[in-house]
Amino acid sequence: MSSTITTGAAPSAPQLVTEIPGPRSREINARRTAAVPRGVGAVLPVYVDRAEGPWVVDVDGNRLLDLGAGIGVTTLGHSQPTVVAAAQEQLERFAHTLFTVTPYENYVRLAERLAARTPGSHAKKSFFVNSGAEAVENAVKIARAHTGRYAVASLDHAFHGRTNLTIAMNHRAAPYGTGFGPFAPGIHRVPNSYPFRDGLTGAEAAARTIAHLEQRIGVTDLAAIVAEPIQGEGGFVVPADGYLPALQAWASANGVVFVADEIQAGLGRTGTWFASELFDLVPDLVLTAKGIADGLPLAGITGRAEIMDAALPGGLGGTFGGNPVSIAAAHAVFDLLETGAPFVEAARIEHALTTGLRALAARHDVIGEVRGHGAMIAFELTEPGTTAPLAGLANEIAAFAAQRGILLLTAGSDGNVIRFLPSLEVTDEQIAFTLGVVDDALAAR
Ligand SMILES: *Cc1c(COP(=O)(O)O)cnc(C)c1O
Repeated sequence: MSSTITTGAAPSAPQLVTEIPGPRSREINARRTAAVPRGVGAVLPVYVDRAEGPWVVDVDGNRLLDLGAGIGVTTLGHSQPTVVAAAQEQLERFAHTLFTVTPYENYVRLAERLAARTPGSHAKKSFFVNSGAEAVENAVKIARAHTGRYAVASLDHAFHGRTNLTIAMNHRAAPYGTGFGPFAPGIHRVPNSYPFRDGLTGAEAAARTIAHLEQRIGVTDLAAIVAEPIQGEGGFVVPADGYLPALQAWASANGVVFVADEIQAGLGRTGTWFASELFDLVPDLVLTAKGIADGLPLAGITGRAEIMDAALPGGLGGTFGGNPVSIAAAHAVFDLLETGAPFVEAARIEHALTTGLRALAARHDVIGEVRGHGAMIAFELTEPGTTAPLAGLANEIAAFAAQRGILLLTAGSDGNVIRFLPSLEVTDEQIAFTLGVVDDALAAR
């Protein structure tokens, strides 16, 4: 893909011209500390001047390799030219009218495209909001309106957002919930499938989850189960085979709406359109956000037509929901995904990362497990030979990598996971360079 930052062959390594963060970033960060509350965190306080493909260039002129892609948002690369062009073209025609006042066609067409690409051949409808949390909120509203029940189940290690309802659905209290309660009632967290830690098969883990649902909530009150097919913030926890379909089957048999939160794992990230496909899961509702518009804010709720129609006219939407510029960008994303090329890249990245990380695991006994799919790969750090989380080391590795110009994200309820969430433009050479740095970080401890 075209490139102004990376002229010629894609460089394999970051290019640092100052320490990290550099003087200009430090100066802006001092202003930030005075002007922005601490609750808005900062993983790596280098201030961005421009970004392209897998690269971020900061205000000091450092070129950093971004293995986080804005937390799984710029899946097709920063400043992907066709996405930029589509958004620009729409911005020049009109930026906003409000779909619920005077509608526009690209919204309807994106709903059609989501219906075609989400799992299952049943009739589907979609609508659009601004953020992942808002998509989760709306899925819960719809499930309640459809079922006439109130209770909602989410899974251990889940993350669903930062609004009052979604905080109640998250696993981690700190930092997402601390001090912000009370939270929305009617939310229950139930055990997930975490093969590395629980050693259960999918059927066994599903039986455990279902026992909790039946005993602690009760079928007659349960409106929805919300699950990430692969958990994101929870540490890229991949459920055992059979777990998710068993939950969906139980939900279908009991009139419960099964919601797949594909906000982090969906839309090409795992080498398939949706991570649900990896598990033969056909959810009732599918939630999209993060990667859907390669950087523009947009989120979608897609689901069975008869469920989606439960809300009264006017009950769904919002002023900015389905912004036409974001939707235009999403169409460019769909156009690229429909070429099939991004799925090939995701498979290549999966191979490069998992082989490289397994080789590292053979030499560093603190790597307890390497897991994930496509460009969503993680390793979990544990006390050697056990599943006991090793605290602190993931942050040390990320800090070490930052000094070498690589942006790595951590994850996991215990903060003991390093997750790779690169854009699909990251090359094998860039991955090899990154793994060399991780190797050095582990050797240096
Ligand atoms: C990021 C995320 C959300 C919340 O999305 P926002 O756009 O930050 O509100 C919800 N679910 C999952 C799985 C996520 O990764």
